Amino acid sequence: MSKKTFSIVSLGCFRNLYDSEIVAKRFLRKGFLLNPPVFTEEKYPRILIINTCGFIDKAKEESLEAIRQAIDLKKKAKIEKLFVFGCLIQRYRGYLEKFFPQVDEWWGIERFSKKFTSRQILSASCIGFLKICEGCLHKCSYCAIPLIKGSLISKPRDEVIKEVKFLEKRGVRELNIIGQDITSWGKDLERRPSLADLVRDILGATKNIRWIRLIYTHPRYFTSELIDLIADEARICKYVDLPIQHISDRILKLMNRTTTKSQIIRLIERIRTKIPGSVIRTSLIVGFPTEKEKEFGELLRFVKEIRFDRLGVFAYSREEQTPAAKLRQVHPSTKKRRFKELMALQKDIALKVNGRFIGKDVDVLVEEKNDDILIGRTQYDAPQVDGVVFLKKKDLRVGSFYRTKIVDAYEYDLVGE
Ligand code: SF4
Repeated sequence: MSKKTFSIVSLGCFRNLYDSEIVAKRFLRKGFLLNPPVFTEEKYPRILIINTCGFIDKAKEESLEAIRQAIDLKKKAKIEKLFVFGCLIQRYRGYLEKFFPQVDEWWGIERFSKKFTSRQILSASCIGFLKICEGCLHKCSYCAIPLIKGSLISKPRDEVIKEVKFLEKRGVRELNIIGQDITSWGKDLERRPSLADLVRDILGATKNIRWIRLIYTHPRYFTSELIDLIADEARICKYVDLPIQHISDRILKLMNRTTTKSQIIRLIERIRTKIPGSVIRTSLIVGFPTEKEKEFGELLRFVKEIRFDRLGVFAYSREEQTPAAKLRQVHPSTKKRRFKELMALQKDIALKVNGRFIGKDVDVLVEEKNDDILIGRTQYDAPQVDGVVFLKKKDLRVGSFYRTKIVDAYEYDLVGE
């Protein structure tokens, strides 16, 4: 076991990865060395840190399993200390402390640090994540995030710009702007600046960051100003991440999504008209309490008609203390069947959607080298959640952009030359 080493296992979403980077930076400042994740390496660190996710049942299970595995390593004396933090701990700390006494330290979630902190210790160096807000203004009836993270706290504009400039200096070529709902940014700040204002300032303050990607945007606050900015500005990825969750008006109301079917349809039409060629990603929940067969059918028909370019499907997860947990629940086998049906439908759509790229020339950012194969991405795919482009060429540099002809397409990934 090395003397002053640590590893971080970061579970859950980009926002967690961002928080893990902050924690990693803190340990590096204290003189620790970062080890690769221990679960895949035969090289164990002295301290193992787990950043947990408590969003839905599946994520909670994954986090608990990681804690169990880490405790096992501690019992075998492979690691010396185990620290656990993140959403799951914020939510269930008292219970977990009793259940896992082998854990040495528990922390809740990372609050915004007043002091400027750099990122990109754990992710590829050409890709940067920038969290511009914490917590959430919305109160979706199924979601535990406002209970865990509280209401919206926007990072002030000057701090954002300082951080962006730092990331640019560190060689970031793709900046992913994240938060629970980034379209809410500024609503708690003086004079209520908009996300479009902030993105304009980021564009003005940088020139080497070639791609700016907006991740997690709520349809309620997706303004015409924002659509125009994405359409007009070449450096903003033509990638719209727009979780809509359902399309039946009754379910949307029960979910407290504050949007209606007609508003969502109009918004998608406006995006596709004003930003031709843009890719839209959404996420949907099936088996929400009281969801009837005909409402699920409405959702299927909608997905067939709209043909989302990228789609994430979740089976509803009952989260205690949320309003939806008190509603009549859909039987687990029905949820499972609906999940499978929607996934199968999207599989066909995804293949056709990706096929559109065959024969086209696109810019690819190379982010990884594995023996003879290079892995990159187009602006139409977000890191970690979407597909990649495989390139068979040896002499390309990681962190650079290359004009690439797409020669083949699979369900999620592309092949280029
Ligand atoms: S927008 Fe809704 S689903 Fe997303 S974090 Fe906020 S409350 Fe949760």
